[in-house]
Amino acid sequence: MELGLWFPILRTTLQEGDTVDIKVVPLKESEMRPVPTGNYGFGKTMTNRMFTQYYSSDKGWHDATIGPYGPFSLEPATSVFHYAQEIFEGTKAYRLTDGNINLFRPWENMKRFNNSARRMAMPNVDEEEHLEAIIQLISMDQEWTPSQPGSALYIRPTMIATEPFLGVHASSNYLHFVILSPVGAYFAEGFNPVPVHISHEYRRAVKGGTGAAKTGGNYAASLLAGADAKEKGYSQVLWLDAIEGRFIEEVGAMNICFVYGDDHIVTPPLTGSILPGVTRDSVIKLGRHLGYQVTEEMVDVNDLLADIQSGKISEVFGCGTAAVIAPVGKFGYRDEEYIVNNYEVGPVAKHLYQQLTDIQYGRILDPFDWTLTIKVD
Ligand SMILES: *Cc1c(COP(=O)(O)O)cnc(C)c1O
Repeated sequence: MELGLWFPILRTTLQEGDTVDIKVVPLKESEMRPVPTGNYGFGKTMTNRMFTQYYSSDKGWHDATIGPYGPFSLEPATSVFHYAQEIFEGTKAYRLTDGNINLFRPWENMKRFNNSARRMAMPNVDEEEHLEAIIQLISMDQEWTPSQPGSALYIRPTMIATEPFLGVHASSNYLHFVILSPVGAYFAEGFNPVPVHISHEYRRAVKGGTGAAKTGGNYAASLLAGADAKEKGYSQVLWLDAIEGRFIEEVGAMNICFVYGDDHIVTPPLTGSILPGVTRDSVIKLGRHLGYQVTEEMVDVNDLLADIQSGKISEVFGCGTAAVIAPVGKFGYRDEEYIVNNYEVGPVAKHLYQQLTDIQYGRILDPFDWTLTIKVD
């Protein structure tokens, strides 16, 4: 199916003639939890329903179902527990002032899900069915998309290897599922710069490895460096390339951008070990549309630090779905500190954050047809 077919149609529920076949299991009274009030935090509460679908080498994908959210029962020998054959996605749904709900570039996440699947030797999902499942699930649990300023519904598609077998090979069975979680504003106390530790000890990903795939193992590999940075008083880790330990790759689980002067945005090119973020791509396209010069260039950590000290670099910010734009206030590297822009949020970060969130929440016209609106009755 042509992806363009979804735009600009407002989707409600499945339409006549749709080929996807998702079984709906109704919730029991006891499974209908009320939507919590107050601050959601991030990823702590799941909605009432989830989507599940199974794969076996003989049947392919089957049993697409939307039913109550709840635990899986898996044998201890299940391959994902041992060899981490797993992928996931992360995107958000935004409540509009008219009550409808926006998805932001969901086609990009869907394509990336299948690219990650390929890298991890997992089967691709049917793109139409995957997106339809997400739309259906959000519609059925629509009251869980919050409307407080800055809040959203986080969408987490996942695929795991489920063959109960201890041998090392690609699994013959998989489980694909989608869960939803209402999330509060990322910057609860306003849009604030964060301190970032440049790790000279740990590496996240290497060219030829799995850094460009959204797979759990990359995160497991990053946790110790994250804990180490926290202990030193930093909230994120800046990752350098694994071969020379010189070129900047990413910050935490976000891509990174540098502002030279007042209108030149630089981000490292996708060389194979960097995760191709949807927000990164949006910053490049929207940045150019707004009149900034945006280039993809390798940045040497020594140049970065010198350019911060000389003031050539005026701003640094991370970009990713969770925070959208996360300004960096300072870097710590080998016991030295480098303050960026007086530890203040700069005008470019502010401008991009405002424009991107205005598009996501439907407050301004979307110049790129990036949003898909789910109509809520
Ligand atoms: C998900 C992710 C990003 C950001 O991607 P978005 O699509 O913008 O949310 C960046 N880096 C890593 C390592 C990630 O896992």
